[in-house]
Amino acid sequence: MVKQYSPITESIPVIHIATALQTAPAQRSTKLHFRSQSGHFNRWRRGLNAVLIALFFFLPLISYQGRQAIWFDLADQQFYLFGASLWPQDFTLLVWLFIAAAFGLFFVTLFWGRVWCGFLCPQTAWTFMFVWVEEKFEGSRNQRIALDKAPMSLGKAGKRAGKHSVWLLLSLLTGCGFVAYFVPARELYPAIFSFNGAFWDTAWVWFFALCTYLNAGWMREMMCLHCCPYARFQSAMFDDFTQTVTYDAARGEARGPRKRKQATELGDCVDCNLCVEVCPTGIDIRNGLQYECINCGACVDACDQTMQHFGYQPNLISFTSEAALAGKTEPVWRRKRFLGYGIALGLILITLGIDLSRRDAITLNVLRDRQTLAREVGNEQVENTYLLKIRNKTQQERIYQISVSGELPFDLSRRQVRIGAGEQLEVPLTLTVAKHQLTLPRHQVQFKVTDESLPDEAVTQASVFFALSL
Ligand code: SF4
Ligand code: SF4
Repeated sequence: MVKQYSPITESIPVIHIATALQTAPAQRSTKLHFRSQSGHFNRWRRGLNAVLIALFFFLPLISYQGRQAIWFDLADQQFYLFGASLWPQDFTLLVWLFIAAAFGLFFVTLFWGRVWCGFLCPQTAWTFMFVWVEEKFEGSRNQRIALDKAPMSLGKAGKRAGKHSVWLLLSLLTGCGFVAYFVPARELYPAIFSFNGAFWDTAWVWFFALCTYLNAGWMREMMCLHCCPYARFQSAMFDDFTQTVTYDAARGEARGPRKRKQATELGDCVDCNLCVEVCPTGIDIRNGLQYECINCGACVDACDQTMQHFGYQPNLISFTSEAALAGKTEPVWRRKRFLGYGIALGLILITLGIDLSRRDAITLNVLRDRQTLAREVGNEQVENTYLLKIRNKTQQERIYQISVSGELPFDLSRRQVRIGAGEQLEVPLTLTVAKHQLTLPRHQVQFKVTDESLPDEAVTQASVFFALSL
């Protein structure tokens, strides 16, 4: 029986955004098979997913200045990002970067809803890739449903075996792709596929391969419905002007089937059910906005196709907002969340910029010899010993000048060091001064390390010089 809504006597199922997004998902007992759909939004999704997948696999294969361009080198605790190398002490930069990305996402969500989920989320990209493989082996949505119900046969076993083999291969490649950001990518792929990989590299590759296989092959929309935290808190970012995939109930109801060009009192929805069959999360957008909707636009394409077939105007389902449907307009700068997220994002980007501009290309850590505070050496001289830990954070070998300043004319035992790209050198050295010049138990000193080729690149650290038996 077709459920119909009278626009006058019954409430049209447009639910307020915040309420709708918190509604619990319906439980489904059978596997969801959704129909593939062509159209404007599908082309956008495929294109963006293809770019995302290509970037994921090829970025670690790029070399820059003789080294993997993007490489989280856990063994040496360095993160290489093209020309820059980041160290654990640069962690704040990454934190600011992640916070900026989060606010960027909030900002985008405020305007276009969950467009990230539908078009750029890896979960969506890999799920659609796996469904594409499934379709190649097992056919269209109806054929896949029929195959699920059919008893096991040689043909069914063959199709299943083919599908799972390709899924496993894609999962293994994905596992390699992920681990390739942490170990040299050009060595990893041959090692894994020739079964010569190091134990932990192989273990991590198979771990991520298994996660991919289960995620994209089996769990699919369950991840979005039950595991993804973003789906749960997105309602906090929406306002009445947020564009989301919305069914125009005022125009579509009362829904009902009909023949093409047949005169009817019904609304424009012909109840073809295509919008439900193409939905990767298995919902009916005509029931109002639901938090399971990932804004992929498949139902928009499907409905536009039906509207075209029946000679109706497109956009019965479209990317629109509650405010637009109600005919409300407001300048963007009067939207409170726009101002809030905009100001927060601006401040974070400024902080990130300041943090970046203050980032030193050299780090210096001065340690005193704690065994012997001071010792007397020949010619009435007093000597203190230090250990300087100097790190060259650039991608080139550098020569550094070491100097010291203070209240007394100290003599340094070593004034120059050469340090390889990205390396740290421990430099033991001594400071010496004539004994008669020591008037206090301790004197302040300041060590300075300067890049010989870039005199503006310098770091300093204070320490103390102890006099003898005072
Ligand atoms: S695709 Fe459009 S016409 Fe068909 S059921 Fe959905 S809303 Fe109605
Ligand atoms: S309701 Fe439409 S936009 Fe939302 S997930 Fe389903 S198909 Fe995609």
